[in-house]
Amino acid sequence: MFPRFSHARPTDLQAALDLLEKTSGRIHAGGTDLLGCLYDGVFTTDTVISLSNVAELKSISQSTGNGLRIGAMTPIAAVAAHPGIRSTYKALAQAASVVASPQLRSQGTLGGNLCQKTRCWYYRGDFPCLRKNGDHCFAFEGENQHHAIFGGEGCYMVHPSDTAPALAALDATCRISGGGSSRSVPVDQFLMPASVDPQRETVLEPTEILTEILLPPAPPGLRSSYRKIRSRQTWDFALAGVALALDFDGDIVQSARVFLSGAASIPWRAREIEAIITGRRLDAETISKASKAAVEGAEPLRHNSAKVTLFEGLVAEALEGMI
Ligand SMILES: Cc1cc2nc3c(=O)[nH]c(=O)nc-3n(C[C@H](O)[C@H](O)[C@H](O)COP(=O)(O)OP(=O)(O)OC[C@H]3O[C@@H](n4cnc5c(N)ncnc54)[C@H](O)[C@@H]3O)c2cc1C
Repeated sequence: MFPRFSHARPTDLQAALDLLEKTSGRIHAGGTDLLGCLYDGVFTTDTVISLSNVAELKSISQSTGNGLRIGAMTPIAAVAAHPGIRSTYKALAQAASVVASPQLRSQGTLGGNLCQKTRCWYYRGDFPCLRKNGDHCFAFEGENQHHAIFGGEGCYMVHPSDTAPALAALDATCRISGGGSSRSVPVDQFLMPASVDPQRETVLEPTEILTEILLPPAPPGLRSSYRKIRSRQTWDFALAGVALALDFDGDIVQSARVFLSGAASIPWRAREIEAIITGRRLDAETISKASKAAVEGAEPLRHNSAKVTLFEGLVAEALEGMI
């Protein structure tokens, strides 16, 4: 049953920030995650603050640094369809196009996709888990087919976003407003590792709003991609996913950023892969070494050791797709 709350629909960012200061409000972007959490009693709020009338947060434009600025309220479908993103920042267009279903991509926003809560069934269900102020993680010894194989410590949730690993690989930055100031945080530091604070998904303070995502100018040799494996061939979260952003000089990889999804409580940076492929051609030997390195240090739980094999194959396939 829905809890009782007030509803506000400010028309500019400052009015939304003022409301967050005065209430224990929650931001409503597309509402596709927020309303489910309220309905299921995952959390409560006194005020739902809709950003749907804040026009300044909705557009995609060129940024002052000659990259791209994407307002946090931009629908995921608009990100997937944007010609500049499709041609230059392919990993992001590919990630946005495999989020959920067409309806959810039209309603859900890029900012909401980054800020959404974990889909761990214990957290969403009626279990007093660590993430809900309880004292342990029910997934650790329970049904953990979809849970973390890296970085699990206390809480074993995986971050559900497909766009976060792509944005992290592309070295994007989040712009945040609130508390009388603004700040910038790289996407790969915006999400909170469960080992640091299992009760927060992001670094956002309760009075802050994610306003925009900035993509840096793309180097001429940039090739990027996002691939994911789901447990069924229809809308579903990533069981295993990989985002690559590689800068090539001819056929040599000059620099690489690689992030795994479905692996950890944040997009998991695969530095071992980056080190193996940097300065090399993506030949069969390098790809084989890199895909094995992808799962080095993995600590699967009782029911998710299949993820190790999935990641190995997925990374090999994604690197082959770069040639
Ligand atoms: C059936 C189903 C399948 C799905 N499958 C996938 C999938 O395959 N891949 C995937 O990536 N996602 C998937 N999702 C998640 C979906 O993409 C998210 O629900 C959606 O991206 C959230 O966006 P929204 O705009 O609706 O956010 P909302 O629901 O409005 O907000 C989500 C959370 O973020 C906070 N928030 C939102 N915007 C801001 C902001 N600008 N500043 C501060 N806080 C903010 C809200 O307070 C809330 O806590 C699925 C969801 C469903 C229901």
